Amino acid sequence: MGMMGGERLPSVKVLAEELGFDVSLELLPSGVRGRLERDPFAQNGYRIVVNSADDVIVRRWTVLHELVHYFLHRRDDPFAAALHRAGSGYFYDEDELKEEREANEFTEALVFGDGRLEAAVGLWGSDTERLSRYLGVSEAAVKIALKKLKI
Ligand SMILES: [Zn+2]
Repeated sequence: MGMMGGERLPSVKVLAEELGFDVSLELLPSGVRGRLERDPFAQNGYRIVVNSADDVIVRRWTVLHELVHYFLHRRDDPFAAALHRAGSGYFYDEDELKEEREANEFTEALVFGDGRLEAAVGLWGSDTERLSRYLGVSEAAVKIALKKLKI
């Protein structure tokens, strides 16, 4: 099944659960989108916490972003209990900033890669609101991607 023809967007929550994560919604401080944390009850030992205050489009991005952290940046340090946070309002050291950039770049590639953005622009033009709904990401993310890909 592809993304064309107005089919429902694949659920990233289901995807994360299939990979063994627990996914939970919690009211987090404003500006904090989510985090990846250890959870001995989760099938793979990790839980993705997503800010319930964010809208569904931002929450999709957060789940993908935390998945990328899991596959790229997971440290087997028992003291690093709360691993990664998506969003502002948190102090990052240099490594973390680099990891944030990587996580966002991989998330962009997942969402916009493989000609998806170009195909969506072919359908909807530069209507960022429609592109946002079609691709399941925020309008801000669409605008950045359009600029980066010079579309
Ligand atoms: Zn992050």
